[in-house]
Amino acid sequence: MLLRHTDKKVKERNALTINPAKTCQPVGAMYASLGIHGCMPHSHGSQGCCAYHRSALTRHYKEPVMAGTSSFTEGSSVFGGQSNLLQAIDNIFNVYDPDVIAIHTTCLSETIGDDVSQITQKAIDDGKVPAGKHVIQASTPSYVGSHVTGFANMCASIAKYFPEVSELKLDQVNVLPGWVEPSDMREIKRMLLAMQIPYVLFPDTSGVLDAPQTGSHMFFPKGGTKIPDLKRCGKSIFTFALGKFCSELAALELMKKCSVPFEVLDIPIGIKATDRFMMKLSEVTGTSIPQMLEDERGQLVDIVTDMQQYLYGKKVALYGDPDTIIPLCEFLVDIGMKPVHIVSGTPGKYFEQRMKELVPGANFRNGPQADMYLMHQWIKNEPVDLIIGNTYGKYISRDENIPFVRLGFPIYDRIGHSYFPVVGYKGGMRLLEKILSVIMDKMDADAPEEKFELVM
Ligand code: SF4
Repeated sequence: MLLRHTDKKVKERNALTINPAKTCQPVGAMYASLGIHGCMPHSHGSQGCCAYHRSALTRHYKEPVMAGTSSFTEGSSVFGGQSNLLQAIDNIFNVYDPDVIAIHTTCLSETIGDDVSQITQKAIDDGKVPAGKHVIQASTPSYVGSHVTGFANMCASIAKYFPEVSELKLDQVNVLPGWVEPSDMREIKRMLLAMQIPYVLFPDTSGVLDAPQTGSHMFFPKGGTKIPDLKRCGKSIFTFALGKFCSELAALELMKKCSVPFEVLDIPIGIKATDRFMMKLSEVTGTSIPQMLEDERGQLVDIVTDMQQYLYGKKVALYGDPDTIIPLCEFLVDIGMKPVHIVSGTPGKYFEQRMKELVPGANFRNGPQADMYLMHQWIKNEPVDLIIGNTYGKYISRDENIPFVRLGFPIYDRIGHSYFPVVGYKGGMRLLEKILSVIMDKMDADAPEEKFELVM
């Protein structure tokens, strides 16, 4: 029993977090930056922070993740990191020649109060930023929020910096996909293509963190949103901000700067959230939903109907990022399952509001004390049939002998998330396949010989 010290008795905690259900802001900022083509993320802090952020992403994607660091020493920790950052900007452009450097701060540089926008301006004034190149920055102190907050802050910086203000409107929409996998971004683009809707999607990590093995190294893979596309998103007729926690801030920036109206929708996980996305796309652009997507929806509904006996009434514990958990809870309820314990390390009142609507009666909590320890305690008090969440749930799953579906960030011990989506109707099918497989594997494993069936 790896988690044998988890106490069944739940006590209120105000200061202590045990096994957090989140990671730190810069990880999210780094992930968002990688969704710009030719971008080098830069961590303004110590080498240790940058090594952790890179390794978290590398282990999840099994891809090399490159990033610079200001390499703070004792001196910079006391006197500030301006000279390190100026030197770093100079070195990065000279050695690696990216189109963009996306700087995020760390706990240390935030605590000492480095003014990164002033330092960036100084780099420009000193001629360290070559013509046609860009430096953007986001403030990402990790003692507040989570990796989701860092992702949202970097997306907001992208939206603030690149789009050009123009009276001219183009027949296109912006899609902010939120923190989803490269596979999900590909799937959203496939749906937009099927509906023949011109779009700008950012950030876009497809083609960056799911890049093919070609036998030759490309420092900046071919994927990612291109700068000219980011510039023209100020001319779009509408912005779809998928996931309130990840995308609303960027949509607001776009509206403030370029007057592009927007609506926040859930990430299209499950039938209803995908329906809402499709219907809104259709309404805004006047495009009809093609038969191909309607057929995919029908297939998803068919699987739910065929396999209802394995899903109905099953209790689920889930944890992770709020933008994923909200539509996932809705989907689980739609397919007859019963989410009973839900935690998210990311703070925000909106989560509570949606949970009350979607799963009244469930145990749910978010913020710093909504951790994996609490989740385990809840499970000990009310056992479940399924756990859904990132890699860290494997300890609870093993100790309590509960089927486990890996979903979210990070997933260090399985592959597939980069290549197979969970958004859209197709993604819903994959999610169902994963859920059904682990539930039915357990039924097979537990079945006495006389009840062990070939056909289930
Ligand atoms: S010190 Fe802060 S920024 Fe650095 S790894 Fe830790 S939580 Fe993240």
